[in-house]
Amino acid sequence: MSEVKKSLNFIEQIIEEDLKSNYNQHELKFRFPPEPNGYLHIGHAKSICLNFGLGEKYSAPVNLRFDDTNPIKEEQEFVDAIKEDILWLGFKWEKECYASDYFQQLYDWAVEMIKNGDAYVDSQNSELIAEQKGTPTKPGVISPFSKRSVSENLELFEKMKNGEAAEGAHVLRARIDMASTNMLMRDPVMYRSLHKKHHRTGNDWMIYPMYDWAHGQSDFVEQVSHSLCTLEFVMHRELYNWFLEKIDTKDQLVPKQREFARLNLSYTIMSKRKLAGLVSNSVVSSWDDPRMPTISGLRRRGYTPASIRKFAETIGVAKRDNVIDVSLLEFCIREDLNKTAPRVMGVLDPVKLVITNYDDDKEEWLETENNPEDESAGTRKIPFSKNIYIEREDFKEEANRKFFRLTLGKEVRLKSAYIIKGEKVIKDENGEILEIHCTYDPKSKSGSGTEESLKKVKGTLHWVSIAHAIEAEIRLYDRLFSIESPDADKEKDFMEFINPDSLKVITGFVEPGLKYAGVSEKFQFQRIGYFCVDKESTEEHLVFNRTVNLRDSWVK
Ligand code: ATP
Ligand code: MG
Repeated sequence: MSEVKKSLNFIEQIIEEDLKSNYNQHELKFRFPPEPNGYLHIGHAKSICLNFGLGEKYSAPVNLRFDDTNPIKEEQEFVDAIKEDILWLGFKWEKECYASDYFQQLYDWAVEMIKNGDAYVDSQNSELIAEQKGTPTKPGVISPFSKRSVSENLELFEKMKNGEAAEGAHVLRARIDMASTNMLMRDPVMYRSLHKKHHRTGNDWMIYPMYDWAHGQSDFVEQVSHSLCTLEFVMHRELYNWFLEKIDTKDQLVPKQREFARLNLSYTIMSKRKLAGLVSNSVVSSWDDPRMPTISGLRRRGYTPASIRKFAETIGVAKRDNVIDVSLLEFCIREDLNKTAPRVMGVLDPVKLVITNYDDDKEEWLETENNPEDESAGTRKIPFSKNIYIEREDFKEEANRKFFRLTLGKEVRLKSAYIIKGEKVIKDENGEILEIHCTYDPKSKSGSGTEESLKKVKGTLHWVSIAHAIEAEIRLYDRLFSIESPDADKEKDFMEFINPDSLKVITGFVEPGLKYAGVSEKFQFQRIGYFCVDKESTEEHLVFNRTVNLRDSWVK
């Protein structure tokens, strides 16, 4: 048996315990609850893989719920992009839900709470309310409006709802405990007036619920059994439970919140707000710029759903915050593409090589394997002729014995072609190499089975025939930040640590068969790395993105 029985992560352990005690399997339900205020990033992918992974494991439904409580920052564009990304990762949600679908229910509950003395309208400004909050060691001050009568509260709350109260004039607060050791329990704001149009409810509402009021209640409405969120919500759990105690839950299941560590990646920032800053300041071209840690950026860069799911599985689910090395993510895509990406020839920094004893107008189509890791990938034919390009760094006039590439007087193999020998170089007046002249051994053709073809030579080079090769724009991406923790320094702005060499655009030459490669097709440029066709690519102007080098070239 090759399958290793995996140990359960701590969330799975909790669920297993629950199934043994007070839950039935059919009661299990999960959700992924993004706020549609930006594109999803690799941290969200971790949460998606966790929630939808549990759904798959326990055959339980998983809802996609948009926590759309803040009309100022939310847009339909983000809703659409989020859905596309989740589907691309290979997951399907049970229901597409919106917190805004529950605005009426939330409002009704709030009215109930006012009637029960659990909420009041505070007419102080936000600065004053903040001042009265106290500190973790000093209790807060009870608002003078806390004693407002129920009828006055109801009247004001309705005015707020109808937009008859100015923005900032009043807020609705829960009446809990201004001396609680949990600052979130000090009469938190439940509603504020916002005279803004919402991307789904239009102008129906002139008040909007705060995230903390809407989030736990939405989980309840949907009957989510296990509400999984990141560690910064540990302190919110008490508040969410308090809210659920104050409404009539009619003996329905109450969600159980559990918290896990958010994903942090080295050389990366992961907050939507900061990522939005990179876009608005044109540090990157868009949310799906291949340097972005967004799912759409990774997709455009050439990452596959399988590689991202593998990454999420490898890092697991932790209870403590930590930083994962970005090279693990790169390792996952390299592993996947090694198995699946066809091999092709591409020369990025070309120098001309002339095979002097090869006929001027001869051309041969040589058979070569598409993927040595996958026999079923088959073979293809690539053209060979007298003049070829090789990589400039694959030649040195003189070199020590460790240089297994081309030098004068030594032999190397041209991949899938012949053994050649360096004879002479032609340079310009500045000493720059213009041409390398070689001879070839006609009997050494790869795969021909001759004695000459079986001869062992130290190096094998990739190449393209100049007459046949096609030009391609190659975008060489590197890490967007030059330091490991770009947002750890609170004194400095993360923008100061942008890697100035995160994108280099060059012109390379690739084998002719690539002319018709489709957008997002992925290849291994032999001996170099993995590349995929960018969405801006056309038959007339090919554009490739470098996904990752063949080997990890980052030395710490
Ligand atoms: P950001 O701060 O980047 O905007 P967020 O937590 O505000 O992130 P939401 O849209 O509210 O973004 O997140 C949706 C879900 O994804 C939440 O359950 C959240 O806990 C989870 N999530 C967000 N970032 C990460 C992360 N880095 N690692 C794991 N889960 C995450
Ligand atoms: Mg958020």
